[in-house]
Amino acid sequence: MDSNLLLHANRLIRKKRPELNEEQPCLEEHVGTMLELSFIGNRCRNDAAGTCIMCDYGHTCKQWSEEDYIYTLKQIMSGDLRKFKSVLFCVNGSMLDEHQVPISLLRAALSEINECMISEVGLETHFQDVTQDKLEMIRKLLPAKEIYIEMGLESLHLPTQELLVLKRVDPEEIDRTITMIQGHGFSVVLNIMLGMPFLEASEQLEHARAAVMWAINRNCRVVAFPMNIKPFTLLSHMHRTGHYQPISHWLMIYLLNSLPVEALSKVTVAYYGNRDENYENVARKVVLPQSCPACHADIMAFYLAFHSELDSHNRKELIHQLIEKATCGCWAQLLFELEKPVISSFKHKYTAYETFLSSCLASGEDIYDE
Ligand code: SF4
Ligand SMILES: [Zn+2]
Repeated sequence: MDSNLLLHANRLIRKKRPELNEEQPCLEEHVGTMLELSFIGNRCRNDAAGTCIMCDYGHTCKQWSEEDYIYTLKQIMSGDLRKFKSVLFCVNGSMLDEHQVPISLLRAALSEINECMISEVGLETHFQDVTQDKLEMIRKLLPAKEIYIEMGLESLHLPTQELLVLKRVDPEEIDRTITMIQGHGFSVVLNIMLGMPFLEASEQLEHARAAVMWAINRNCRVVAFPMNIKPFTLLSHMHRTGHYQPISHWLMIYLLNSLPVEALSKVTVAYYGNRDENYENVARKVVLPQSCPACHADIMAFYLAFHSELDSHNRKELIHQLIEKATCGCWAQLLFELEKPVISSFKHKYTAYETFLSSCLASGEDIYDE
């Protein structure tokens, strides 16, 4: 099993990916009571290296000055912010990577955010970019805010990390980083993926649950991401060629239902179909988790209600109500899938794909989306 092949193929696919075509350097998204601010920064180093087979964050060749960023940020922050309880700062990669967001820009942006009425501020970053100095700087610039640092853990399943995520997330290292962040009085949020390739549903569930519990046991909050299959990713190639199937929404419901009740208030579900992430002028669309027409609306309503309900016990009740309502067969189908014995191992399926990919590349076959 050679991860270099996948890195190479992912880099080839990313060369064909349309550039980000944003008109302004800072975008806003309203996610319930959270204001998400996304800078369009320089390209993520991992993206350039070909890691993360599921990611299409992309990059732009447009150049904006720091004044442009701050001007746009000021415009957004001068709007009506009363409904927001938190503001999350992201970039197409890592906010604390100076190559993506220069320190002077980060300082200016945080000073701007400090002026707003929103009490909680989050920064999304790679855990390798977190240092004592940066944490101290953030505290000085945001003296009275509640602060959280959001980082990608993705999975604790080692083969998945080493062969598919590929960005060297070492649990011991991230554990030390969590302790460092919490030592500054900040909270930690970890991103965890449900639906990694080359695993049966029962294994996907088991690995995601293990990662969620690992995070909760370290007093972190969790954002659980059901896998989206995005164009211009290697995951999309796996899907198109029959090596990957989208997960069922019900797998996420099962995951939530399997957690201890007290953990539920610490978990958020993101990217379940609540955002339009499609490329303009590209025929292939993002493939979201699956459900049938009979249960789809109930599931979407559930996610919304789960998000706005903060109490663990009430969240558990929402899960129960949803499962009780399920008469369409999707829930029963998932239970059936979860009972299936695992016949083919991760290694076997990975190797089969590797051989297939290698032959596609050797024959010059198209591995891209259009
Ligand atoms: S998932 Fe994060 S680290 Fe990986 S390529 Fe995308 S932006 Fe970069
Ligand atoms: Zn259904």
